[in-house]
Amino acid sequence: MTRRDYYEILGVSRNVSESELKKAYRQQALKYHPDKNPGDHTAEEKFKEASEAYGVLKDPEKRSIYDQFGHEGLKGQGFSGFQGFEDIFSSFGDIFEGFFGNTGSRGRREQTGADLRLDVAIKFTEAVFGAEKEVDITKHGPCKTCRGTRAKPGYPPEACSTCRGTGQVVRAQGFFSMASPCPDCRGQGQVIKHPCPACRGEGRVPEKKTVSVSIPAGVDEGSRLRLRGEGEHGPQGIPPGDLYVFIHVESDDLFHREGHDVLCRLNLSFSQAALGADVEVPLLDEQTKVITVKAGTQSGEMIRIHGAGIPHIRGHGRGTLIIQLVVETPKKTNKRQKEILQELAEIDGKPVKETLKGFFQKLKV
Ligand SMILES: [Zn+2]
Ligand SMILES: [Zn+2]
Repeated sequence: MTRRDYYEILGVSRNVSESELKKAYRQQALKYHPDKNPGDHTAEEKFKEASEAYGVLKDPEKRSIYDQFGHEGLKGQGFSGFQGFEDIFSSFGDIFEGFFGNTGSRGRREQTGADLRLDVAIKFTEAVFGAEKEVDITKHGPCKTCRGTRAKPGYPPEACSTCRGTGQVVRAQGFFSMASPCPDCRGQGQVIKHPCPACRGEGRVPEKKTVSVSIPAGVDEGSRLRLRGEGEHGPQGIPPGDLYVFIHVESDDLFHREGHDVLCRLNLSFSQAALGADVEVPLLDEQTKVITVKAGTQSGEMIRIHGAGIPHIRGHGRGTLIIQLVVETPKKTNKRQKEILQELAEIDGKPVKETLKGFFQKLKV
């Protein structure tokens, strides 16, 4: 039986983002969930199929294997496609859980102060190995002058004259009288005639706070960290919101990240590529490693250093550092180099543009 393409199953394009992927899967899962379609064998199969596809594509490592080698590639790596429903559902709630009330199966969150968002730029190597960052945030705290009462000390709120402190106004309508909240005190029954000058009567003031953020090794561009309770203070008795830290990773001159793997280009001279050489390659931790380039290396060939890539954020081990060898053609050659190259061209028996006038004639003498 031929197996359907995972992207096709979820109805997404091959360059789908992680969040779009999750959205697409969730739609399918809701539509075909066995609880919604009792006894419907086709729906059950579709549900399993979508879960399997999502299970693979949500994992950058498996996705890259699948992209390159398809279903067969995953088999070769010992990944069975389907992981079971439980695993699929539990994968929704992880440390990078969705922003703004995306709570997966946990239901609605209780009422809290507002969440705050903070964008933090980190260096490529900080993303690889993790970092401790001190960041300044501004949030609102209760005003110390009025203790959050909004009134100037010594001038307590006064009973509202419109409603005589009841917070309600009563209007007669025919035989009935209708009570509604007082428009002058908004139902509070009190008015503040002398607002607190420190907070201009708001009861809260902006305050700067330094928060330390532990950035785990292996984070990527767009990763979100949640710092519980570091958001805005809630009104009295309500817990503060959360602080969401959005990670932005600066690009690096040498290294380019692909999931857990890192690509790095290494220039080889024509002679190194032809004759082979021991060359030094840079590693992510600023160390270097000597690798052997074999004789006859072609431009574009890759050398893989397993375990030298990006650490897996929730697991063990690291991805692969992939060294892409680029054979450089010399742009400028001196006289001696020209002579040797022309001689080489003659041995190869392939015509080249003659640049040394009289060179061949000289050889023949
Ligand atoms: Zn009133
Ligand atoms: Zn105040």
